Amino acid sequence: MTDVIQKPEAPLNFIRAIVEADIKAGKNGGRVQTRFPPEPNGYLHIGHAKSICLNFGIARDYNGVCSLRFDDTNPSKEEVEYVESIEEDARWLGADWGANRFFASDYFERIYACAERLIEMGKAYVDDQSAEQIRENRGTLTAPGVNSPWRERTPEENLDLFRRMRAGEFEEGSRVLRAKIDMAAANVVMRDPALYRIKKAHHHRTGDAWCIYPMYDFAHCLSDAIEGVTHSVCTLEFENNRELYDWVLDTLGFDPRPRQYEFARLNLTRTVLSKRKLIQLVQEGHVTGWDDPRMPTISGLRRRGYTPEAVRDFCERIGVARSENTVDVALLEHCVREDLNKRAARRMAVLKPLKLVVENYPEDQVEEFALQNNPEDERAGTRTAPFSKVLWIERDDFRQTPPPKYFRLAPGQEVRLRGAYYVTCTGFSADDSGEVTEVRCTYDPATRGGWSQDGRKVKGTIHWVSAAHAVEAEVRLYDFLFTVDNPSADKDFKTHLNPDSLETLAGCKLEPALDEARPGDRFQFERLGYFTADAKDCRPGALVFNRTATLRDTWAKIEKKG
Ligand code: ATP
Ligand code: MG
Repeated sequence: MTDVIQKPEAPLNFIRAIVEADIKAGKNGGRVQTRFPPEPNGYLHIGHAKSICLNFGIARDYNGVCSLRFDDTNPSKEEVEYVESIEEDARWLGADWGANRFFASDYFERIYACAERLIEMGKAYVDDQSAEQIRENRGTLTAPGVNSPWRERTPEENLDLFRRMRAGEFEEGSRVLRAKIDMAAANVVMRDPALYRIKKAHHHRTGDAWCIYPMYDFAHCLSDAIEGVTHSVCTLEFENNRELYDWVLDTLGFDPRPRQYEFARLNLTRTVLSKRKLIQLVQEGHVTGWDDPRMPTISGLRRRGYTPEAVRDFCERIGVARSENTVDVALLEHCVREDLNKRAARRMAVLKPLKLVVENYPEDQVEEFALQNNPEDERAGTRTAPFSKVLWIERDDFRQTPPPKYFRLAPGQEVRLRGAYYVTCTGFSADDSGEVTEVRCTYDPATRGGWSQDGRKVKGTIHWVSAAHAVEAEVRLYDFLFTVDNPSADKDFKTHLNPDSLETLAGCKLEPALDEARPGDRFQFERLGYFTADAKDCRPGALVFNRTATLRDTWAKIEKKG
């Protein structure tokens, strides 16, 4: 029995330690079953990725099963659009649930039957108090609650009323079904919690079949038990609910039954990770949609150019623990850079173009230079880039009066044009406002390929694109959506929105090899960062790129120091 533990792919954490101990002890016959239970009321975000990696990773490493279960018990907020996006995003991350895709709504009949059982056992009752009265009578952390005047109804009366609730005889809010536990319980969750409420709402799967819906605390544990889940892993805010989880399943006699374990949710700097907040950003137009590349949603990260490998790597590195903490978003970016460095082809792109004329280069001559696609990956081969008399260079790579240690182009200064030639700046033109319109230089034919034969060294290497061959593109530069580390610390997190989170550059000049870029293709634009052809807007002839990450890695520095 103990041999079923294969070498896990992910590091051990306290949840995995529990799973391993349970397997060794032969609990659940050595079976491991987890689940990822999103409510379809929004798109998945990077926090959900942590939960997905944990749950599906455990199933993968311990011969188990992980199911995808939609916790669709609140019809007013849930939509089919969300069901579809959740599946797409979870699959993109690598989650494989096989045939195990479930909906809590598929169990409505069985959950209802469990409620009737509790009533028959004298463990649940219909309460006619209003929501407000129930709240008032619940007591506080220091004072016990007050029993409802309807608490001592007989099972017969409760059953009759509950069936009539189901039949639609009563108004919303006029009655609820409550568990009969203990109004003086130390854990407030246990003070006769509601199990069912009346809600005359259309459900995206069950239509109008129901006008009463089970509460999360009742539906969740029963769904776990019905599916045969062994380890029900959730975030810490459900810690107090565990007692109720256990009470429902034990009172109804499920044996064996699932056990709930809680871990700390992911918090990220410069980010909000709550669907309630993310939906505001979408609905109020602060972003272009759930998949805006600035969003921490899986679909946003995907469109930004993040890879599933990088996101999974991040989830592994942050680990799983019980103490609340906040992860520096620089770590996520670090994981992305590390992954893209291995796989992204290098290209030259000029984002803010300035014309460079090579005065002594023959007018009609074109040379093709072979350039390495990826120095990190020999198999990536080379591509050719055409060179001619008129080039585009980055506006930033020229200074009329260079500051100290400026090794790029300036009057009289020599630099290397990456993979082509050494050039020396001979002059420039400016318009009336003083803006430089053109830079002139001469090239040294003896430096073909970008290397001098006389051992002469240059300190600067800049990228370039042949003007006659350049393809144009729009490039979108992104910064964090928020200007502070913890936007949620404030009453209104939106006061910290970064007004400069998007900069759109039109008329960028790219080397012609980029003409073939297709939506989703990722590149390193040399010296600038990683860029991904936009999945929605990039088309042949109308290229659009998103900056996925800059090259500057603040995390690598933090790691070195520490
Ligand atoms: P939000 O707080 O964003 O509204 P939620 O908890 O309401 O999220 P659910 O759809 O209920 O969203 O979440 C599905 C699963 O993902 C739950 O098991 C939940 O604990 C987990 N989860 C949600 N947010 C995080 C997070 N930030 N870190 C880790 N796990 C999370
Ligand atoms: Mg939730």
